[in-house]
This record gives sequence, C-alpha cells and structure tokens, in this order.
Amino acid sequence: MSRRYQDVSFWLEDAGDPLTPRPPLERSCEVDVAILGGGYTGLWTAYYLLRSNPGLRVAVVEREIVGYGASGRNGGWCSPRFPVSAGMMTRRYGAEAARAVLMALQSAVDAIRAVCEEEAIDACFRASGTLTVARGAHQVAALRASLAAYERLGLAERYSFLTPEQVAERVRVTDVHAGLYTPDGASLHPGRLVRGLARAVEARGGVIYEQTAVTHFQGGARPRLLTEAGEIVASKAIVLAGEAYLTSLRKLHRAVLPVYSLISLTEPLTSAQWRQIGWEHGENLSSMRNTVVYLTRTPDGRILFGSRGAPYAYGSRISDDQDRHAETIELIQNSVLEWFPSLAGIRFTHAWGGPVGMPMDWTPAVRFDSGTRIGYAGGYTGQGVSTSNLAGQMLAAMIGGRKSGFEQLPFAQRRSPNWIPEPLRWLVVRYMQGALERIDLAAEEGRARPADASIAEYLGRH
Ligand SMILES: Cc1cc2nc3c(=O)[nH]c(=O)nc-3n(C[C@H](O)[C@H](O)[C@H](O)COP(=O)(O)OP(=O)(O)OC[C@H]3O[C@@H](n4cnc5c(N)ncnc54)[C@H](O)[C@@H]3O)c2cc1C
Repeated sequence: MSRRYQDVSFWLEDAGDPLTPRPPLERSCEVDVAILGGGYTGLWTAYYLLRSNPGLRVAVVEREIVGYGASGRNGGWCSPRFPVSAGMMTRRYGAEAARAVLMALQSAVDAIRAVCEEEAIDACFRASGTLTVARGAHQVAALRASLAAYERLGLAERYSFLTPEQVAERVRVTDVHAGLYTPDGASLHPGRLVRGLARAVEARGGVIYEQTAVTHFQGGARPRLLTEAGEIVASKAIVLAGEAYLTSLRKLHRAVLPVYSLISLTEPLTSAQWRQIGWEHGENLSSMRNTVVYLTRTPDGRILFGSRGAPYAYGSRISDDQDRHAETIELIQNSVLEWFPSLAGIRFTHAWGGPVGMPMDWTPAVRFDSGTRIGYAGGYTGQGVSTSNLAGQMLAAMIGGRKSGFEQLPFAQRRSPNWIPEPLRWLVVRYMQGALERIDLAAEEGRARPADASIAEYLGRH
C-alpha cells in the first residue's frame, strides 16, 4: 500500500506538489552515473554533473519519493554552520582550514540562492542571518567562547555580541542573558527546495526512479546499484547518498549513527502575537544548550521548534514510530511556551521527526574512489542543508575529473571510523543522550552539575 507522503512533514504537505510517485525502475539499465538517494546530496550531485556535462546519463534511485528523508523534514536552516564547532575545527585542522570550511559553507548558501533563482525554484529563500542566545546565565561563557573562536579565525566582523536589550530588539525570548548574531545564513522551505531541485534535474535530462529500494551495491570497472527490479550499471560512477538510511545496507551498517531529531510546529501566529514576539527578520534562532534546539519562523508565519528526537534505538533501527515520539513532542511543545509564554493556548498543528546521520567523529565526508568508482557524501549530523550542496559540487567535480576548488577542505576524500558494535554502541549513545540532558536540566534548575558532567562533555565535545 502506498504511503500518504503528505503526512511525513509539514514541508512535504506544503510543497505545492501532489507528491505522486514517479515510476519505479522496471528493468536493468545502463547509465553513466547512478545515484542512491533522492535527497539534497543525491540531487545536488546529479544537478552539478548535468550542468557541467549536459549529455551525461544520470539516474537517481529513491526508495520512497524525493524528499522523503531529512531533506523533506528539516528545520529549514540553510546556514554556514558545521557539525564540528569552529573552536574544535581549529584545534583539529588549524585556523586556515577551519576558516576555509566556514567560507565554503557560506558560498554554498549563496549557491543555493543562485540556483533557486536560475531554476525558478520557489524555496522561500530568506537571507535571515543567525542568532544564538544564552538562555540563563550559565550559557553566557559558552557563547563568549564561540565568539572567541570566530575571532581567532579572523571572522570577528561577521559576528556581534548582543546585550539582552539588543536581542529583544530582534526577538523577545525569556531568560536571555546575551546573544551572538551573524548576518550569515538563510532560512528556506525544505520541501519546496528538494522537490524543485528534482524537477531541475529532470529538466536537464536526469532520470529519477521512485519507490525503488537499492538492496546492494558493487564497485569496480562497471559499478552498479542492485534493486529487486534489476540493476543499474554505471560506466563512470555510483554515488551513495542515503545519509542515515544507508545503515540499512549491510556494508554500511556502522558508517553513521541514525540520531533522531524532532520538530513541532504551531499554527500561524496572529499579527498581535507576532508584535509581542518581534522576530521580523526571521533569524535562525538557537541557544547554547548541549541538547540542541533550533527555531525557525516559517514563511507562513508559524514557529517551528526542533530538538532532540526519540532515544537511540538498539541496532541503529530506523522506524516510522520514532518520527512521532510522544514524550519528546510534549517536551518540545512545553519549550515553545517557556521561550514565548505569550503564546499560552496556541495550537500545535504538526509534529514530525527524522534521523540525521552522525559519524563517530562528527565530521562529514565527501569522497570518490577512482578504483572502485564509488562516491559517498554524508555524515552531516543535522547540518546538511548547505553542506550537501557543497558535497554535490565536490562529488560532481571528482567524478568528472575536474577541480571544484574545495579539494583542500578537511572533509574531502576522508572516511570516519566505523561506530562501535552493539551492545556497546547502545550503552554509550544512550548514556551520552541522557547525560547531556541531565547537565542542561541541572543548569536550568540551578542545581549542582552532575558528578559525571566533565566526562560526558569530554566524550561529546565537537
Ligand atoms: C528533523 C531534522 C531537522 C534538521 N534540521 C536541519 C536544519 O535546520 N539545517 C540543516 O542544515 N540540516 C538539518 N537537518 C539535516 C539535513 O536535513 C540533512 O543533513 C540533509 O537533508 C541530508 O540530505 P541527504 O540527501 O544526504 O539525505 P536524505 O535527505 O536523508 O536523503 C536520503 C534519501 O535516500 C533514500 N534512501 C536511503 N536508502 C536507500 C536505499 N537503500 N535505496 C533507495 N533510496 C534510499 C531515502 O529514502 C532518502 O530519501 C535536519 C534533519 C532532520 C531529520
């Protein structure tokens, strides 16, 4: 039976598209490049391949429909943020490389805007900037450290440290002790971007097979994606762009960890409610909590509040029931009212979630092996909207034997270590998820830090 794809997320429901599945693969065929995954990574790779080589035969194979994965479910932040913090990147790779990553990501934000304009993709792109607030005095030190890391990279002019009064001129949130603002970063409509991008790929000659699961893949002189209906043999390359869902393939089971993030959405606010809150510029909004929160003002005037999702499931299990984890939805809805008490009584119309792909070392990878002819990009740990565009540009250049200008970035041609086997994986991940939440709660309630706080923070630093 066919799924009701409108129910996957508000973004797919609101994509302005009936979401009718494209025809599946029916028999074996041969192409130049075969791509697993109809999310941003697969589609950007297809798009840039076809843009630089219009005659190329490119096929995208998607198990459900385009945008079914994180690309059709995310928070809509299109920001130059990277899963590894600026400070940690500087320690790991040096200041020059860290700065290059952030500049490349901002260029990806600009590239997404440019393609949306060129291809007439109505993704509601808005150059909104990004605002991080310290909610509670305990978050101020981390916010200052974050600013200091940007200053060390010579990016001081891009960041302003704000007083609570200056934050309130932008958005009125409770318990704000400071803010950090940058004009960098944008917000967009994830569903319209992914669906529009697929149409742009097709307009350039790419073929997309939907409701077709890849069950195996093989590298070599004639690499291939295998499905129940037949195989797609590629003369140049196959690309694995299934992010968290790749864990369902045996060979990639431990490549990343599927970590759930969950979102709750309010009904559209009235003009009077917006006047109380402010937030006219719709900055991407977050705090310095260990357990990440992200807020977006949607194009139609709702508040989207995202945070952690269902606890990690043993064996890296991915399932629909984790998308709607009732206990977490309730926590998120309470958080909306803590941030904006004036919204008491507001209705929440949608809740959904999805898995992000987290590598063991939190660092994404973009690579192409010219021996096996297998390309891979992923492991964005919830920061993939802009990174996947960069990855698509990089992969298309690697496969086409061209230079992208991004070859020196620390995530090019790399591989993260595999996750530890079960049951250790479950024990470590569940411990970390619980410990970081306990640290946040103790700070928020003015209690002493848990005894294991330093250990948990050391293990979770990124
Ligand atoms: C709730 C949530 C909020 C997020 N918020 C943000 C945000 O605000 N900003 C940000 O930058 N990032 C955010 N992210 C992360 C971001 O959405 C992802 O990093 C990005 O969309 C990854 O794109 P992708 O194409 O690599 O993967 P996906 O979009 O997950 O696409 C992978 C596709 O591959 C398909 N697939 C997988 N396996 C197979 C197979 N065997 N055969 C065929 N098809 C297969 C899947 O069905 C899926 O459609 C969020 C993620 C989630 C889940």
